[in-house]
Amino acid sequence: MQSHLLNTCDECGSEYYKDTSQMANLCPQCAYVLYGYKNCIHQLVNGRCTKCYWDGSKTTYLEGIQSVEVFDAYIFSDGRIVAFLKSFGGKLLDQTVLKDNSGNQWKIRQYVWTTGSIEAYEKREKEEAENIFQYLIEGINQAEKPAKGAILKIVEVPNITKPK
Ligand SMILES: [Zn+2]
Ligand SMILES: [Zn+2]
Repeated sequence: MQSHLLNTCDECGSEYYKDTSQMANLCPQCAYVLYGYKNCIHQLVNGRCTKCYWDGSKTTYLEGIQSVEVFDAYIFSDGRIVAFLKSFGGKLLDQTVLKDNSGNQWKIRQYVWTTGSIEAYEKREKEEAENIFQYLIEGINQAEKPAKGAILKIVEVPNITKPK
């Protein structure tokens, strides 16, 4: 097993693995939000990123991502909606609620990584480098997909952080 040195972020107070951040006392998320360093592509499991150990602290999460752009969205015959969303602060967390300017709301069910073919894999990698991530989303009291090009506001983030 690889062992990591833990450090505490000066900005958000989250613990993180020291070797995952390019800044001395900031977690990868805060280093990204505040200074534009490359962010960790967080994989949150039980409120902790398995890669950098960040705890999803809300403050910087909200500062980093306040709105997202709908790059594309599809509805499948079974009603599932897949959306490609561009978010400048990195990947959105599951359960994040988004709202468009006519009031329609969606909830992020989960981040999806498709690996159908080499071509698809490369396409996704390129898009993720541009902060376009693919998610399974769910309409709240409606079954429409978000319009391509729409800007969605983040109205609710998952409650996975303890108040300081
Ligand atoms: Zn931080
Ligand atoms: Zn992370």
